[in-house]
Amino acid sequence: MIIVSACLAGIKCRYDGKDNLVPEIQKMVLEGKALPLCPEELGGLPTPRISCEIRKINGRNSVVSEKGEDLTREFQTGVDKVAKIAQILDCKTAILKSRSPSCGSDQIYDGSFSGKLIPGKGLCASALKEQGVQLFNEENFLKEKHKY
Ligand code: SF4
Repeated sequence: MIIVSACLAGIKCRYDGKDNLVPEIQKMVLEGKALPLCPEELGGLPTPRISCEIRKINGRNSVVSEKGEDLTREFQTGVDKVAKIAQILDCKTAILKSRSPSCGSDQIYDGSFSGKLIPGKGLCASALKEQGVQLFNEENFLKEKHKY
């Protein structure tokens, strides 16, 4: 089973209540080939919700909102659920929304809320990678999609 960021399948779970629909990814879900999950909603956060970015605090990746609240615990709760589901399903591949503090697999925002991107992974992408899951974002997946 392939795990996909739920927003890529057209589910309106983004922080601003919108989706990031990629029709090819939604089709995989409708065909039963992929499971859509949103780690932030699984962590108990509401939709819409406040925008968050990852910031290094005391050498640790923390998730802070643009108002300065530390929401690392909520984000981590969702990550743990996605990681467990991936383990149960023996998931080998995930297609995750780029640049998200949860799902970003190659670039994330730098924590300053200024729109600056840096190399790095969101918390969920890091956890899945540690479990040996191969990560794609929606852009590089579309180039490789003939394999799926
Ligand atoms: Fe999409 Fe992931 Fe953000 Fe949920 S946490 S809205 S699945 S990018």
